[in-house]
This record gives sequence, structure tokens and C-alpha cells, in this order.
Amino acid sequence: MTSEKKLEFEFRTGKVIIDYDKCIAPECGFACVKADRLYGRSVLKIEGSRPILSVSREEAKRLCNECLGCELDCEFYGNKAIRIELPLFGLNEYRKRMGIPV
Ligand code: SF4
Repeated sequence: MTSEKKLEFEFRTGKVIIDYDKCIAPECGFACVKADRLYGRSVLKIEGSRPILSVSREEAKRLCNECLGCELDCEFYGNKAIRIELPLFGLNEYRKRMGIPV
């Protein structure tokens, strides 16, 4: 899903969410795009002073190598605008079994 407010795209085991309301580009030097080029597969590019997908959603899902570099570098150099969701298989069942609220 992409709206004016955020960009969401899936990769094989999770999802990347970029919150444009928190994005401070270009002050951060587009740290997420640089990290993606260094450690990932260049699925991000700069357009209109914000990071967007450089490939289709289907390609991003296949290409992304789950390096997590975009999220980490946004945390270090940006404004914590990126959240990566990585569901852990069986975690909810484990929590229920152990009596931990899900
Ligand atoms: S690193 Fe964070 S603040 Fe900078 S362009 Fe990327 S999402 Fe925006």
C-alpha cells in the first residue's frame, strides 16, 4: 500500500513501512536509500525528495534481501521513519501457551 503519508511493501518474510510524516529528507542524506544500495538490492530510489520503490512491488518482494539496513540507518541518521515488521513464526501460539498476552 502506498498513500501520501506512507509507503508499505512486503518482502519474503515481512513488511517495510516508511512513514513520510516522520521523514526528514533531504537533511538525512537519504540514509535509507544509501543503505539499500550498500547492503540491500537497490529497491529504493529518490523521487520528489522522498524514498520510493525503484521496482514493482512483486520485484521488491523477490529482490529485497532483508538486510534491515534502511531501518537501521534511518534510526541512526534519519528520524526513525522506517519500521520493519518481521513476524516470528509460532510466537503468538507460544505466548498463548505460556499465558503471555498476545
Ligand atoms: S533515512 Fe529515514 S528520514 Fe531519511 S529519507 Fe529515509 S525514511 Fe526519510
